[in-house]
Amino acid sequence: MARYIESVCKMCRREGAKLFFKGERCYTDKCAFERRSYAPGQHGQSRGKISEYALQLREKQKVKRVYGLLEDQFRTTFFDADRAKGITGENLVSLLERRLDNTVYRLGFAGCRSEARMMVTHGFFRINGKKVNIPSYRVKANDVIEIFESKKKTAKLAENLKAAERHGMPEWLRIEKEAMKGTVVRLPRREDVTIPMNEQLIVELYSK
Ligand code: SF4
Repeated sequence: MARYIESVCKMCRREGAKLFFKGERCYTDKCAFERRSYAPGQHGQSRGKISEYALQLREKQKVKRVYGLLEDQFRTTFFDADRAKGITGENLVSLLERRLDNTVYRLGFAGCRSEARMMVTHGFFRINGKKVNIPSYRVKANDVIEIFESKKKTAKLAENLKAAERHGMPEWLRIEKEAMKGTVVRLPRREDVTIPMNEQLIVELYSK
C-alpha cells in the first residue's frame, strides 16, 4: 500500500494549518508549524495568488491527509456522502469522522490517527462485543468500543487517555476511562470537527 514517507510536519506547513499528526508534540512549542508557519521549500515564503482550482485541490489534499486516506478511498467516501440525504460536504465530514481509526483517536485511546489505525489493524478493539480490525469501519450511534483485556497493558493507553482529557472529548463520544470503554452517543456533525476545513471546496472540485 502506498504511504507518505516525508516529514508529516511538512504537510501541516504545506496546508497552512496544524493537522495534529504527532500526538502530544503538536501541543508543545516543538511543533514545526508554530516555529515556521509557512510552506516548506525555497519559495515557501513567497508564494503568490493561487487559482480557484489549486485552492480546491489543496483543501482536498489537506482533508485526505488529516484522515490518512488514499485518493481512491477518499473519492469513494465522497461519493457515499453525495448519495446520502442532506448536504454533501457535511455528510463527507461526518463519514470521515465515523471511521473507526478516527473514533479511536477521538476517544483518546491513541495519540494520533496513525497510531489509532495501527491499533485497529492489530486487533485491539471490539465493537458491541465483536472484534473489528478494519480502520475504515463506520461507527454508528450507540456503538460501544472496548479494548481487549489482553491489549490493555501493551499500549500507552493510560498516557493517551490522560492527554485526551486535557484536550477535551467531542460531544458525540463518551469515554469510561476505568473500563477503557467508549460509546458513540450520536453521529458526528459538522460542528464537532475543529480542524479548519472548507468542505464546500471539495464538493466543487469533485463536481467539475
Ligand atoms: Fe503538525 Fe505541529 Fe504536529 Fe508537526 S508537531 S504534525 S507541524 S501540528
